[in-house]
Amino acid sequence: MNRPVLILGAGIAGLWTALKLAPRPVILVTGSPLGTGAATGWAQGGIAAALGEGDSPALHASDTLAAGDGLSDPHAARLLASGIASEVKALRALGVPFDIDDEGRITQGLEAAHSRARIAHVTGDRAGAAILAALIETVRTADHVTLLEGWRAVALVPSRIGGCAGAHLRGPAGETRIIAARDTVLAMGGAGGLWQVSTSPSGALGQAMAMAARIGAEIADPEFVQSHPTAIDIGLDPAPLATEALRGEGAKLIDGQGRRLMESISDALDLAPRDIVARAVHAARQSGRGAFLDAREAVGDHFPNRFPTVFAACMAAGLDPRITPIPIAPAAHYHMGGVATDTEGRTTLPGLWAVGECAANGLHGANRLASNSLAEGLVFGARTANALQSTSGKPQVALNVDLPPALPALALTRLRQAMSAECGVERTGAGLERLLGILDALTARYGDTDPVLAARFIVNAAANRQESRGAHWRLDHPARSETPRHTRLALEDIEADVLATQARPA
Ligand SMILES: Cc1cc2nc3c(=O)[nH]c(=O)nc-3n(C[C@H](O)[C@H](O)[C@H](O)COP(=O)(O)OP(=O)(O)OC[C@H]3O[C@@H](n4cnc5c(N)ncnc54)[C@H](O)[C@@H]3O)c2cc1C
Repeated sequence: MNRPVLILGAGIAGLWTALKLAPRPVILVTGSPLGTGAATGWAQGGIAAALGEGDSPALHASDTLAAGDGLSDPHAARLLASGIASEVKALRALGVPFDIDDEGRITQGLEAAHSRARIAHVTGDRAGAAILAALIETVRTADHVTLLEGWRAVALVPSRIGGCAGAHLRGPAGETRIIAARDTVLAMGGAGGLWQVSTSPSGALGQAMAMAARIGAEIADPEFVQSHPTAIDIGLDPAPLATEALRGEGAKLIDGQGRRLMESISDALDLAPRDIVARAVHAARQSGRGAFLDAREAVGDHFPNRFPTVFAACMAAGLDPRITPIPIAPAAHYHMGGVATDTEGRTTLPGLWAVGECAANGLHGANRLASNSLAEGLVFGARTANALQSTSGKPQVALNVDLPPALPALALTRLRQAMSAECGVERTGAGLERLLGILDALTARYGDTDPVLAARFIVNAAANRQESRGAHWRLDHPARSETPRHTRLALEDIEADVLATQARPA
């Protein structure tokens, strides 16, 4: 019997996996109404794909590896770079209106750390919204997909053989139900919402990591969290983004005196890798010089047409980017680490799969190459769906489990402040120890909640990585270790560390 696959999350990764599974039945769960709560809809830059003359999948893969700073898996990078062209073609067939030239070829822009202009856009900065709309329209009419909208996953169901047997869901009226499944796919997005300054949806709290770890799955490289250097600093939470494509078009990073920020820092200037630019922006703000993105000359009057999303965000805050530089701040943006998987979405547990931003399949290493994550959702969503076609059999026999408590809003605010203060663009051993103390206090007061558990994985791994690599910058260990190593953590490692922290004299 062809049993349904349970997919938790309906961003690009969950939706694409669901569509590619046809005709196998799918139960697709999304905590918020379809189209909301997903980072996918907010993606501005677009999709990285080597489509043009003078570019190649080999070049795309090599840029991906360089950005990953020694920790990207060459096999995963090759799969992404060679697989993305056909997925873009499939999106065009669904009606995604990529920006094209007079001959119907997709036009492509430049972004940081790409050696070629290879980002496919939609109406300048609306790629995510357009792709999400097309996928939703297709999923709504797909016979093989049953949608559970407004149902949040609150825990995975552990099985008697040490795998996953489905998920506990909480409905719109607070009611709970269990969906038993032979195969459950986590596609719940990232963890940026754990930081006070973030571009991610507020529900992106690393919950997939916490849920998976609670039933025994391994977590990979959780300390690697990319900050976007140019979140628009207008006091909004989440912070709106000024896409990197603006710098691709020539916009400049300047301080409050109009001096170029990157001149003494990198030969690549404003298109240096994101971690380098984020640290430069952070330093300029810390020193009181201020940091701004000046697009007056490079974009100017073309703003409303070329970058309608950024333009609207600025104008809503009373700031006209055609005549005023945009105030910017680094913000938590993308989680490279997550639930450990192979390149077909298999986690370390039978019956549990993960795809998209919540998964760590080795592609991004210590730093994601810009615009590789929509591409990841497509290529690895398709690969996961393909691998799932050959699974069959009943759900495993379930074990009972206590549902974790929720973290109250005020406590989440405290957590987010502490994560931004101690585990952001710059980290130190002493700061991370202080942060672990705050996590202990939150656990003692509110119980073992998912956001605090997710934060524990990130902070524990950051404290134990005594080097600077990719997006992980330790002020007290600025050098890069000569031997690259991955982090692998399970729940028992975190629990052992909590016990060790508690045993330490205050
Ligand atoms: C502002 C911004 C701009 C970006 N620009 C780009 C770009 O130009 N190019 C690029 O490649 N990447 C970009 N990214 C990154 C990219 O958008 C994301 O990494 C990618 O969309 C993640 O897709 P996903 O399907 O894994 O997760 P998401 O799109 O975040 O979807 C997660 C889904 O899970 C659901 N969910 C979460 N928790 C639960 C739960 N407990 N129960 C049920 N459902 C749940 C959510 O409601 C949502 O449907 C950007 C990110 C941001 C924030």
